[in-house]
Amino acid sequence: MKVYNTMTRKKEEFKPINENRIKMFVCGPTVYDKSHIGHGRTYIAFDVIARYLKYKGYSLFYLQNITDIDDKIIKRANELGVEPLKLAKEFENRYIADMERLGVKNVNFYARAMEHLEEIIDQIQKLIDKGFAYETPTGVYFDESLFEDFGKLSNRNIEELNVHRVNPDPTKRNPGDFALWKKRNEEPAWDSTWGKGRPGWHIEDTAISETYFGGQFDIHGGGLDLIFPHHEAEIAQMESATGKKPMVKYWMHTGFLNVSGEKMSKSLGNFITINELLEDYDPQVFRFFVLSTHYRSPIDFSDEALKQSENSLKRIYKLIETIDELLEMNIDEENKNDDRYIKLLENTKKEFLDAMDNDFNTPIALSAIFNFIRDINKGINEENISKNVFKEIRILLNELGNILGLTFSVESRKEDSQDALINILVDVREKLRQNKNYQLADEIRSKLRDIDINLEDK
Ligand code: AMP
Repeated sequence: MKVYNTMTRKKEEFKPINENRIKMFVCGPTVYDKSHIGHGRTYIAFDVIARYLKYKGYSLFYLQNITDIDDKIIKRANELGVEPLKLAKEFENRYIADMERLGVKNVNFYARAMEHLEEIIDQIQKLIDKGFAYETPTGVYFDESLFEDFGKLSNRNIEELNVHRVNPDPTKRNPGDFALWKKRNEEPAWDSTWGKGRPGWHIEDTAISETYFGGQFDIHGGGLDLIFPHHEAEIAQMESATGKKPMVKYWMHTGFLNVSGEKMSKSLGNFITINELLEDYDPQVFRFFVLSTHYRSPIDFSDEALKQSENSLKRIYKLIETIDELLEMNIDEENKNDDRYIKLLENTKKEFLDAMDNDFNTPIALSAIFNFIRDINKGINEENISKNVFKEIRILLNELGNILGLTFSVESRKEDSQDALINILVDVREKLRQNKNYQLADEIRSKLRDIDINLEDK
């Protein structure tokens, strides 16, 4: 299997650090607003990467951080007149619910910055002790000039960069030195050796990844925009703090989602939330749309493109419906061309897996499925296919669909919506409990038990 590594700018043979075990960290969102379709693109891409790694038999631990301490959250909370910590929690809950609806289900653990303050402070102290960080009246900063590899991920020359940089804070040694701790008195602020304040964005991530993975891990992912300065800063912090190199074996970055050819942003008015998207489209249609472009390429969102994805999916559903009908009927089993179709099944699977092995090339994998569908439809018209082969076709489509998180069967789509309905009830019950309406909460639980669904509070 080959994976493109942003660090070396090459596709490399994939070999985890510890044989079969993979540690993967993907930067989670900054929770100050609703999740949008750009988040959807990035997290669906990593969800499929996770699914495929598991399909290949790897044991994967997929960790995502939640940036719930950040200046953007505080600014937004002040604008709305709410508490920053509450605002962050609210958008975190929405983010996780949105991801569930998009079928993003493989994150093993979401780690909030807020719950890792001790580890963050420890890592900053380590950097000070080793001489990489220094304290000033405004905060604690990482001295980028002391990390000789600075710029290796983004391929930037820091001296050249600094020529154009203005130092906004005269207490810092170099204009590019970034904050590890910001001294602040306004809430939310935490106590530390350097006084009250809050952590910088970059250190939240490395304190979390070091906590769960140690100083080195296999895959680090995020959108392309995070390469500089965020991931560059992460490397400098982690490699300086632990002394282990490299921090990450494979750096993976997703291309950006644009809307009708333009960058998506609030000021352009083309910012589409996942909630808005799902008012118009089935989550499977969006997933299909995302996967029809390679994860590293930019992708252009438009209604036409979504309609096209919808039509392509319908071709798959239609074939499955036809097969299911034929399986129910008495068909003449004479003169079938089983050998040819079994070969076709094998070739299709091989083509699909080869594409996925080649840096998760989902558009090529999908085209293998569509070539297959065309040949099967032809076989159905010519009455060349036996029931046994039809059953094999169903099994293969299910298997390949699962890798992509696409449900190519009518029954499992029904199960998906049942799951979603139960999740809604669980959320409502949780809110009732928070409001101390235990009677109604218990009633929901007991009614669910009547239909054999046991809800446990753990
Ligand atoms: P943020 O909430 O802005 O910190 O972003 C969380 C993740 O979503 C990061 O990995 C970003 O790179 C990614 N992301 C944000 N906007 C887009 C976009 N328009 N297209 C693709 N990925 C995006």
